[in-house]
Amino acid sequence: MSNTDTHDPTSLRTPIVAVLGHVDHGKTSLLDKIRGSAVIEGEAGAITQHIGATAVPLDIISSIAGDLVDPDDFDLPGLLFIDTPGHHSFTTLRSRGGALADIAILVVDVNDGFQPQTLEALDILKRSQTPFIVAANKIDTVPGWDPNEDTPINDTYESQSERVRQRLDESLYEIIGNLSDEGFSADLYWRVQNFQRNVGVVPVSAMTGEGVPDLLTVMMGLSQRYMKEEMEIDVSGPGVGTVLEVKEEKGFGKTVDIVLYDGTIKEDDTIVVGGQNDPIVTEVRALLQPRPLAEIRTESRFENVDEVGAAAGIKVAAPELGDAMAGAPVRVVRDRDLDDVIEEVQAELASIAVDTAEEGVVVKADTLGSLEAMADALDEAEVPIVRAEVGDVAPRDISVASTAEDPKQQVILGFNVDVLSDAEHRAETDDVRIFTDEVIYQLVEEYDEYVEGIEQAQQ
Ligand code: GDP
Repeated sequence: MSNTDTHDPTSLRTPIVAVLGHVDHGKTSLLDKIRGSAVIEGEAGAITQHIGATAVPLDIISSIAGDLVDPDDFDLPGLLFIDTPGHHSFTTLRSRGGALADIAILVVDVNDGFQPQTLEALDILKRSQTPFIVAANKIDTVPGWDPNEDTPINDTYESQSERVRQRLDESLYEIIGNLSDEGFSADLYWRVQNFQRNVGVVPVSAMTGEGVPDLLTVMMGLSQRYMKEEMEIDVSGPGVGTVLEVKEEKGFGKTVDIVLYDGTIKEDDTIVVGGQNDPIVTEVRALLQPRPLAEIRTESRFENVDEVGAAAGIKVAAPELGDAMAGAPVRVVRDRDLDDVIEEVQAELASIAVDTAEEGVVVKADTLGSLEAMADALDEAEVPIVRAEVGDVAPRDISVASTAEDPKQQVILGFNVDVLSDAEHRAETDDVRIFTDEVIYQLVEEYDEYVEGIEQAQQ
């Protein structure tokens, strides 16, 4: 195991990057642009498409960033971008002792500014102490912006006319002002001094690609610093990871998509996975990666691999995974005592566990991390929780909620989850109210309004 004093630079693994921000602010477009630039710059096959993630190697980042990133200055193999579609709560995913993502990009539309999901993302970043950079996106939409104007690299908007710069400055200062209100001190582009406290804001356009080289450069600089100073990683030991999603896969039954952030995982390895009830002990049947698009014919979207090393996204096929939970830990047992590993998984699950009361509302969320974030928000709002679980709203949740005596607690709050249709019917007959939302504080607000309504009616 390496530590910060005796770090062997070659053992630094690929940093894991999460991209987050309000809906429509350009997360998907930015990831597509980075991927697209990488494909243009690289040889075919230079980019490895993972399950739920894309790895962009250092030499490709260096070609995109031009003179800004000299590969000789970096010990990092590249960047792994988590890109699970629709998984906008993945930033709440946990790894041992912190967030799964090593660093994050917070995308903010320069025209739209801070919106509910931006604030929520900031909250999550603050709580998990994840270092991040703001990508002030859509600079091409600033009135008068000229995409054809010569914009030297590292100088994204300096060469634009005074009027355009002023308009962009206003947007950026608004973003910076908002960051300061949130307790972060933001510093303008490039002057990222103290990475935990000051936040860099990089103007970009996910559409034209302007500023993307600069963004990647800042990411590399910060990752290198962070990984060297903060991370203890063991890239060759038994694998450690987090479940992104639990999915039924034709021919394989229930599988788990995981991000491996430490060590390696191999076919036939015994693994321990966090489950709804007890930890699941099982054996890896197959490790599956997406096939390159050109090769996709009919039989399978995946190809088998014997082994993967951190950091990587991979689909694990193994028996008994039906009970696995998104956000739960995954550990390889290789060369270790099974009981010790089970104990570690239990301890990690316990550290994310939600305190429940005798009476309260039922909470459902899509991952363990988002369940934890929901519980924190409800604790702040002084709303007790009787039961908190990962998964869609199911009939048994209605049974629990319907037994509450207080109508304010005959409620289910679902974050990023669906309501199963039999649950919907049951809720109607049992007089249980279900609220679902994709923004935690909106969900809490909806519930508050509901409670106010009941209280007013009672007066
Ligand atoms: P997400 O919901 O955050 O993933 O946002 P998307 O990437 O889906 O983008 C939302 C919309 O904004 C889409 O119509 C994009 O084409 C558009 N968009 C994203 N980035 C830019 C940009 O830099 N410039 C412009 N003009 N449009 C953009």
